[in-house]
Amino acid sequence: MEIRQTVEIRVRGTVQGVGFRPTVWRLACDEGLVGEVLNDGFGVLIRTTGNSGAISQFLNRLHTEAPPLSQIEDIETQVLNLLDFEDFRIAESVSGENCTRITPDAAICAACRAEVLDPTERRYSYPFANCTHCGPRFSIVKEVPYDRANTTMADFPMCAACNEEYLQPADRRFHAQPIACPACGPAIWLERETNGASPHIAPLDSAIELLKNGAVVAIRGLGGFHLACDATNAEAVQRLRQRKHRYGKPFAIMARDLDTIRRYSNLSQAEADLLQSPEAPIVLLPAGGPEKLPRGIAPGLNTIGFMLPYTPLHLLLTRQIDQPLVMTSGNISDEPQVTSLDRARSGLRSIADAMLMHNREIANRIDDSVVRIVAGKPSLIRRARGYAPSAVSLPQGFDGAPDLLAFGGELKATFCVVKDGAAILSQHQGDLEDVSTFEDYQKNLHLYSKIYDHRPRLLVADMHPEYLSAKLAKQRSTDDNLPLLEVQHHHAHIASCMVENGIALDAPPVLGIAIDGLGFGGDGTIWGGEFLLADYQSYRRVAAFKPVAMVGGVQAIREPWRNTYAHLVAGPGWSQFVEKFSALELHRYLSAKPLKTIDRMLETGLNVPLASSCGRLFDAVAAALGLCADHALFEGQGAMELEALAETWQSGEQPYPFTITEHDGGLLYLESLPMWQALLEDLSREAPVARMALRFHHGLARAIRDMVARIRTMRWAASLNTVALTGGCFQNKLLLEEVMRLLKADGLSCLSHAKVPSNDGGLALGQAAIAAARYINQ
Ligand SMILES: [Zn+2]
Ligand SMILES: [Zn+2]
Repeated sequence: MEIRQTVEIRVRGTVQGVGFRPTVWRLACDEGLVGEVLNDGFGVLIRTTGNSGAISQFLNRLHTEAPPLSQIEDIETQVLNLLDFEDFRIAESVSGENCTRITPDAAICAACRAEVLDPTERRYSYPFANCTHCGPRFSIVKEVPYDRANTTMADFPMCAACNEEYLQPADRRFHAQPIACPACGPAIWLERETNGASPHIAPLDSAIELLKNGAVVAIRGLGGFHLACDATNAEAVQRLRQRKHRYGKPFAIMARDLDTIRRYSNLSQAEADLLQSPEAPIVLLPAGGPEKLPRGIAPGLNTIGFMLPYTPLHLLLTRQIDQPLVMTSGNISDEPQVTSLDRARSGLRSIADAMLMHNREIANRIDDSVVRIVAGKPSLIRRARGYAPSAVSLPQGFDGAPDLLAFGGELKATFCVVKDGAAILSQHQGDLEDVSTFEDYQKNLHLYSKIYDHRPRLLVADMHPEYLSAKLAKQRSTDDNLPLLEVQHHHAHIASCMVENGIALDAPPVLGIAIDGLGFGGDGTIWGGEFLLADYQSYRRVAAFKPVAMVGGVQAIREPWRNTYAHLVAGPGWSQFVEKFSALELHRYLSAKPLKTIDRMLETGLNVPLASSCGRLFDAVAAALGLCADHALFEGQGAMELEALAETWQSGEQPYPFTITEHDGGLLYLESLPMWQALLEDLSREAPVARMALRFHHGLARAIRDMVARIRTMRWAASLNTVALTGGCFQNKLLLEEVMRLLKADGLSCLSHAKVPSNDGGLALGQAAIAAARYINQ
């Protein structure tokens, strides 16, 4: 029996600035409902009157037909006394407290794409077309609420035609804040070194001509500048590397469509879907297809980072070029990506032959995100454009989380704002060691505090006394008289993995396996291969990789051979090595190094901190096999090349053996000595390097499994059934997938990362969860 009633519907989640109200309006009109919809400080509020059947139909459709960029977290309904409305209308926003949801930037939608390619449309060939379902968001926000006046579009008053679309609920540009057209919006131009802008040829056509002829063109994009060149032109690629002084790191590629990408990679459906998603990240794809890109694109690797055009500007540019384009971050050495016209003119001029400019200012620098499909799911390696600053929901039990600020780590830094029970992880900031990156990080901290009207009651930082983020947190704690909590690095990694897997606050502890380069340990030494029994509040270290000296401290990261030497000294011993393996090239190579000095350092203990680091073990093995032995151009280069090599070898090889030993206080050590013996034997037999790389990967995976099995034999571990796999070394797809396969076969449930990077880019989220847990349970 149908009854006429009035209900109030509260929708929470990412529902503002994404076309939610017009969708509500359309669905309500469809179902013959009357009432109103409005934005307020909590999300969207709907009051509607109609037949109960129509209302429930409306609610169903709200779920299934929600606009593409919205994310409904919760819908609550409540029956009110019957209200009379004349029609259904979109009411004025009620400004309450600031909303904790700012939408990430989204790739151009199908409708806008069709429009800019249609000569009959007024936005034909317009590089800044966008609508409620796509376009810039976070990158143009200067303040909240998210209105045009508070974005960098404030400089462009709407023309009458745009204004009409903006006010029309049935239009896909209803309340689209960055709405623009050729008559009123931003414009592009080309600057050449010789005579400034070239007004006679259309800027886009000139840029395309230049790119086709092997030039390097700087392009102002959505969240910053790119440097582009023809990716199939080896000389152009080399020129770009030389001018940019970027020799090792792989270049990202933009191709006009999936068919072009298929020429270079046999990508899967999951990978194609990810490329075409509104987030439109760089996806690391397996190299392999009918055509090959020059080696200079991704030296030593067998993956290529591809993305599709995600703005109309990129679309218009690439559609006229058959070749894929290098689209690497437009920056000067280690500095952050350039965003401003002035900095581009002063800094990129020496790298680029021309600059394709536009006049829509970039309020928030935001790099391209990087994703790889690992263990069947998209796994974020760099979380930025398209993903940040969407909120990560905190699991059950975190309702009482205080507003807090977590400062993150040092490399691949991010920070995390917790407000109203939501965790907002910042976009990738970069390595804080670089002065301008650190300045940018501080600027962004300030910006987030303004955008989210955030007044933290608690600060959180890493324990490392030398991290710039931790020093800043200390300063802030003193200045603002706020409590500061210091969190152990690997505990934070594990907590971050637990959060994204929805592990409840009061869940039993998990066994966290955190493997990475290094982090400051709970005992003041350097950790980096840790087995911690952990919940959100605390942890106990039950096992670790056996510590080995890092000869020369951070110099061991830059010069991987130092780790090989330290491992040989700590393992078989140098004299034993010389006795049995003096015929090896490795022996000749290491003997030419200043070993006397190093031995003295090892004797005196000067600048040779012990580290239980998995990353350094990878360095040591890679260098022993001749990969990046002298110099690593970036941290983890050796490990990446080792993984790439291992993947070229067929399975079925005997894994290298490791052993487990017990040390003071019952701490278990994973020992690599037998692995070194087997590897040196292989080297003497001149085994293929790829085969040795695979035996190492499988050996390490087996060793991790054996360690977990050993831990589970302990009385206290009887009910342990969940393992959290985290840390930068688990970005290694081969290692992660093999560890998961082995642990699952042992009946364990494995938590791994997807939405949050397993590297230090995820630290801040874990820090935030640990601090919130301690606060709630205090
Ligand atoms: Zn659109
Ligand atoms: Zn207009």
